[in-house]
Amino acid sequence: MRIEIDNFDNYRKSCREFLEREIVPEHQKWEENGLVERSFWEKLGQSGLLGMSVTPEFGGLGKSDYRFAVILTEELIKSGVTVPGIVAHNDVVASYIFALGNEEQKKRWLPELCSGKRVAAIAMTEPGGGSNTADIKTVATRQGDYYLVNGGKTYITNGINADLIVVAVKTEQGQQGQGISLLAIERDMPGFSRGEPLKKIGWNGSDTAELFFHDCKVPITNLLGRENLGNYYFMSAMPRERLSISTVAVASAEHILQSTLEYVKERTAFNQPIGSFQYNRFMLAQLDTEVKIARVYLDNAVDLFNQGLFSLVDAARIKWWTTELQMKVADRCLQLHGGLGYLRDSIAGKNWLNSRAQTIYGGTSEVLQEIISKSLGL
Ligand SMILES: Cc1cc2nc3c(=O)[nH]c(=O)nc-3n(C[C@H](O)[C@H](O)[C@H](O)COP(=O)(O)OP(=O)(O)OC[C@H]3O[C@@H](n4cnc5c(N)ncnc54)[C@H](O)[C@@H]3O)c2cc1C
Repeated sequence: MRIEIDNFDNYRKSCREFLEREIVPEHQKWEENGLVERSFWEKLGQSGLLGMSVTPEFGGLGKSDYRFAVILTEELIKSGVTVPGIVAHNDVVASYIFALGNEEQKKRWLPELCSGKRVAAIAMTEPGGGSNTADIKTVATRQGDYYLVNGGKTYITNGINADLIVVAVKTEQGQQGQGISLLAIERDMPGFSRGEPLKKIGWNGSDTAELFFHDCKVPITNLLGRENLGNYYFMSAMPRERLSISTVAVASAEHILQSTLEYVKERTAFNQPIGSFQYNRFMLAQLDTEVKIARVYLDNAVDLFNQGLFSLVDAARIKWWTTELQMKVADRCLQLHGGLGYLRDSIAGKNWLNSRAQTIYGGTSEVLQEIISKSLGL
């Protein structure tokens, strides 16, 4: 049954009910296997949660207001369901294809991405390094009406399940950052293979893999946008990707803090609730204030994004600041859980492990601060 997307409150309620009913009961199994089942994607697609901003002619809901995406992320976080795979599928790949694809490509791929029949991934990072996105070594050589792709990618979210992968390749030698193109590589293309799921310390319900291309034959009709403009497209898409990670950060920080507040009121030491000691009260007061600042900051960013005014530097600032805050909240809150927090399967332990990836993918905190400082003329 498709979820109605008429107003924010109804949409939130429907998302929550759907996740509780269809996804949460299965989630533990997926975490144990380190892989979500295909049924996850199909259920999300049937309910209308995929490709929300894609227009109806291509199978989406045509809701470009980013506040709907924020609600979905918040409900995923609250229900403890893995988020990175959905962000990569929805916020990154579907958006790339919708923005860059020609009419034929959109018709070919978007309806199946929106229905969950196909799973998408984005592959930029290479084993030699991911921070410098201009330094791509995977090469695509044009031979008549196809490219021959050679190279490899790593840490790719949805890497095991993905049927359609937007891959950054070098199509022309020259200066770093130039001559990069985006190719949509499909599941059964000859010369494409993938490794075993990578064993991560967190986000276990999200599959992550290495991808290998050995003389992989990709038709030129799978080129997204124009040849050699990949870096420009990548920069244009970054604000959305970083906004989505910031949304995860703020929703997670709020959720972690809320559940910890409940815990510290119940748990006692020295015959009083641990939350009533002055040290803990002040620490929680500080976290509460910072999380509330983050919410206002995020709301403002979403507003700017909806107006088309959210820049690459805005995205760097908020992604850096909110993900560092999430990590700080997760760390302090784990401490408040004592030994329980150190158990891998405790909520506080899981929150800490999941939070750790946030300052790494989508641009590390260090790289983001480089971007911010350059904008200051430094
Ligand atoms: C869970 C997870 C999911 C991911 N999913 C995807 C995905 O779907 N697609 C994809 O393409 N990639 C994905 N990645 C990869 C991610 O984007 C990279 O890990 C990230 O960009 C960093 O690259 P790297 O790991 O090669 O680190 P490196 O580039 O080797 O950097 C190592 C360290 O050096 C620091 N450093 C680098 N340059 C500078 C500098 N100029 N100044 C100061 N410090 C610097 C970095 O900040 C970092 O701390 C994922 C990663 C994780 C952990």
